[in-house]
Amino acid sequence: MRLAVLKERLPGETRVAAVPDSVKKLTALGLTVAVESGAGEAAAIADAAFREAGAEIAPDAATALAGAGVVFTVQPPDPATIAAIPRGALLVGTLAPLANPDLVADLAKAGIDACSMELLPRITRAQSMDVLSSQANLAGYRAVIEAAEAFPRGFAMMMTAAGTVPPARVFVVGAGVAGLQAIATARRLGAIVSATDVRPAAKEEIKSLGASFIGVEDEESASQTGAYAREMSAEFRAKQAALIAETVAKNDIVICTALVQGRRAPTIVTAEAVAAMRMGSVIVDIAADAGGNCAATVPGERIVTENGVAVLGYRNWPARIGVAASSLYARNLLTFLSSFWDMDARAPKLPAEDDIVKGVLLTRAGAVIHPNFQPQAA
Ligand code: NAD
Repeated sequence: MRLAVLKERLPGETRVAAVPDSVKKLTALGLTVAVESGAGEAAAIADAAFREAGAEIAPDAATALAGAGVVFTVQPPDPATIAAIPRGALLVGTLAPLANPDLVADLAKAGIDACSMELLPRITRAQSMDVLSSQANLAGYRAVIEAAEAFPRGFAMMMTAAGTVPPARVFVVGAGVAGLQAIATARRLGAIVSATDVRPAAKEEIKSLGASFIGVEDEESASQTGAYAREMSAEFRAKQAALIAETVAKNDIVICTALVQGRRAPTIVTAEAVAAMRMGSVIVDIAADAGGNCAATVPGERIVTENGVAVLGYRNWPARIGVAASSLYARNLLTFLSSFWDMDARAPKLPAEDDIVKGVLLTRAGAVIHPNFQPQAA
């Protein structure tokens, strides 16, 4: 069976869905891997490296896709790509079906069995396939590195003959996978770090990384016992806004990472809070793809506010660390396919009753099968 790996079409995307190491392992499953020429370029992987790992280099997407039984992508495919994917092929990628409901119907119509990896259930068995975690971890790291670059002082305390430079104060909003990595990275650079979250479990995790916890602790936050946060009430949000505004004004750098699944990201850092920050402060909003946690964020842009605060609202943070992000993403997809690979038939086998399959499989044999994406009755 042929597996196609395409060059990503989204501007600014640097990642690729397979790397030489994963190509070797895919080949060992009995697959012929066809990589579109230049697919790895933005992730510093030359065609020659893919070829050495056993891949065939296809001059264009259509050639890579011809006869393919499996297709790996990072971003959702565009209409031309959908048209070129053979009927019956398995497509695996981050397809953003919530943001793009028409795509699910289009994939079904094209007879493509599509798996959207960001829908993976957060269960132990799925951890090594968890693209959200692998990519968020790197995004959290990168956010701090870019904050350090934009901050005109320095992170660590420096005691010199000419005097002392104080350490930076970093406040992390949202302590999930990205936020915890941001805390750890900022601490490694020498900053004094604090963080907030609404899930009570996050408090201990924040403290175990050497940061202080700041947050509203009430009955509503105590009821947030799941792995994901729910949207908070207006009353909670008002209490939180006052505490956050006070905290933000005392910090040099704010890293925003808070998300609520399937919703716009909550606005946690208000315009008033930004206005109270000192000149030269930096806000990095990696929730920008979901609208951002900061009222001053302009998704996709780096702006400087009237009071001299830089707000980095870039989209697609994993693409800003494309080499590492490709390597982990490729490993996630490889693990997924290997887990659902029938060695005798040398083909994917996705049992409908499996929890992981139920989570990720959007379409099968020409129909939308995922309960959350059923076509609306006219
Ligand atoms: P996420 O990206 O959905 O959200 C990031 C963080 O923002 C979360 O911690 C969330 O509680 C927080 N948040 C949401 N609304 C907020 C608000 N109004 N104010 C402050 N913070 C807010 O979450 P994530 O990083 O993908 O994961 C969340 C949790 O799930 C983590 O504890 C993680 O360890 C756990 N997890 C478990 C598994 C597994 O068991 N396989 C895998 C991945 C993640």
